[in-house]
Amino acid sequence: MAGSSAEVPAVDDIRQEARRNTRGRFEQWAKNPTCDANTLSAVHNVRLDKAAKAVGLEVSFGQSPFAIARGNRFEAGLFYDEAVKLRQALERKSCLPEGSVGFLDLRLKLNRGTRVTTIDQALRETEAWLRRIAVEPTSAESIVAAPMIKIPKGVILPEALLIIDAVTVTTTVDGRARVTVGEVKVFPDRGGHTDPQQLASARAQAGVYEHAMRLAVETLGLTDEIEISTHGFLVFTWPGSNSPSVRANEDLTYQAIRAERGFDRLEQVALGVVRDDDFSADNPALIKRVLDAPTDYSEACLSFCDLAPRCHARATAADDPIVLGGEVARFLGETTVSRALELMAGVAPADDREADIQRQLVG
Ligand code: SF4
Repeated sequence: MAGSSAEVPAVDDIRQEARRNTRGRFEQWAKNPTCDANTLSAVHNVRLDKAAKAVGLEVSFGQSPFAIARGNRFEAGLFYDEAVKLRQALERKSCLPEGSVGFLDLRLKLNRGTRVTTIDQALRETEAWLRRIAVEPTSAESIVAAPMIKIPKGVILPEALLIIDAVTVTTTVDGRARVTVGEVKVFPDRGGHTDPQQLASARAQAGVYEHAMRLAVETLGLTDEIEISTHGFLVFTWPGSNSPSVRANEDLTYQAIRAERGFDRLEQVALGVVRDDDFSADNPALIKRVLDAPTDYSEACLSFCDLAPRCHARATAADDPIVLGGEVARFLGETTVSRALELMAGVAPADDREADIQRQLVG
């Protein structure tokens, strides 16, 4: 017995590592789904900090053990004692009705879960849970921690697993189960002053979860029985504490559409590569592919990608207005920074569009 219990964790640890990577790769990809280098990095499991290091850039994002540990502690605290802390915060924001009951813990024991020991068990139990609430919505626990789904399309190698941080289950007016996805982030909720890049990345991630949950329900043929809410909730921290601050009713429609497009792009990229058994983050051939891929720099890059200095420098060299931020880039469109400066200095516009830009810039 001792022998077999020693073997199981070893295998599970390996798969667990793949799972952790998949989740992290999804999160990274969701921050800039229109950059091919980022997409390739997610598909190939090539870390962007390793790619940055290969071209001599200073690495600052990588993995911060401190941040990971704090995130794990925060998440564990939310679900402690039948998720009492999370429930209070969700009821306060009317995400759940007062006096809601029931907690289903699908977290792996390795992730401080209470029962589930293997990935296969988590997948099986998640499916059983969905099938159960489809026929018996009143039996549903109101909070479910870490349901795990296999993305029906094989978009991420080697395992297309996705763990949703938390979901709530309520009932629709016609008595069906409504599942609402939640995304947990350890960063502080500062009301209207919350870091916009962090907020945007949390919403993007929740949009990916929502879309993935919808795909899973479709695959099980339960679309008529289970409603996936188009709105989700975000769980941040109160500044300076580890208490949860819930942002309710976040409209994820746009993010879910982007997620769907991104999934298709991921699928194309995944189909275009030969499956490689070396999933190590520092395989030089794969790093080169990432470095050679087209990029699409944006402000969000500054929050997660160590290649940002290179891409920013390229955008500057290309006279691309994106270096002045997304809003300026949307406003200037094809017009370069130099041309915009000329127009501001009073040079005659070449066409109506330039005349319009000039009017708005100097007007
Ligand atoms: S910094 Fe460059 S490589 Fe990294 S995500 Fe942004 S555009 Fe892509």
